[in-house]
Amino acid sequence: MYEGPRFVEYLFGTDGFRVTRAQHGGRSLFPVQTTRQQIKELLSQSECNARDISQALRISEKEVYQHLGHIAKSVAAQKKRLLVTPSRCSECGYVFSDRTRFTKPSRCPRCRNEHVVEPKYRIE
Ligand SMILES: [Zn+2]
Repeated sequence: MYEGPRFVEYLFGTDGFRVTRAQHGGRSLFPVQTTRQQIKELLSQSECNARDISQALRISEKEVYQHLGHIAKSVAAQKKRLLVTPSRCSECGYVFSDRTRFTKPSRCPRCRNEHVVEPKYRIE
């Protein structure tokens, strides 16, 4: 009887990207999903910020931002879009709507507050 994967473990691929591998019955190891595929799936299901993604996949936020750049291009080929809910200043409400980079801005240009709400991402 097939019981499905016993567990899933994360390994580092030789190209530096993590590959998820499922081990069936303690025998065969084979790649199932790349980190990018996992991020795409996550963002197709719910809106997440970089911290959510980094915690879900156990990768650094820096790595998340690197993947997001590639994902934005690859989803376009599938007629989907990576949508960004822009960062917002929690003090004065300033919205960083013209920001093209994925990372969080360090401070508000209007009131100089550093409490900036992180941008959120989703795929539609
Ligand atoms: Zn502000």
